[in-house]
Amino acid sequence: MHKVYLGLGTNQGDKEANLRAAVEEIEKRVGEITSLSAFYDTEPWGFASDNRFLNAVCCVSTGLEPFELLAVTQNIERMLGRRTKSVNGFYSDRPIDIDILLYDDLRLYTPTLTIPHPLMTERDFVMKPLEEIAPEVIRTLGADKKG
Ligand code: ADP
Ligand code: MG
Repeated sequence: MHKVYLGLGTNQGDKEANLRAAVEEIEKRVGEITSLSAFYDTEPWGFASDNRFLNAVCCVSTGLEPFELLAVTQNIERMLGRRTKSVNGFYSDRPIDIDILLYDDLRLYTPTLTIPHPLMTERDFVMKPLEEIAPEVIRTLGADKKG
């Protein structure tokens, strides 16, 4: 089994319901959620919007390989009503966004999938919930940067 951290975000509709629905689908299709952070109310990041975000991070135990995991999480996004994709750093409102933050200690650099998620350490809305459920992981990331 692989230990994976997923970042969840929503800024449309019933945000709490969106996160709960995402968590339910992840449990069904990705694997057992071993920890889930609180839901954090945050500012939009990287684009202007009147709609604030609700963010969370969860840890999942999964048998899926990285690209299978990406396909499944994107399916869940579509199922929960996401219609648009961010292109070249242009972000938009979304009912649900699921990002793969970490996958064991894998480093993967491809055009469609980069792990660890390249912007995660810059984003408080990822780092705060991650720190809540996995402070030891944050320390590893810090150590990693220096080394
Ligand atoms: P964002 O999450 O930055 O708003 P999207 O969710 O629309 O953007 O994702 C854009 C693309 O990012 C996806 O089609 C996917 O191929 C790519 N991607 C690269 N690395 C990752 C990752 N670690 N987790 C999720 N998507 C990723
Ligand atoms: Mg995403």
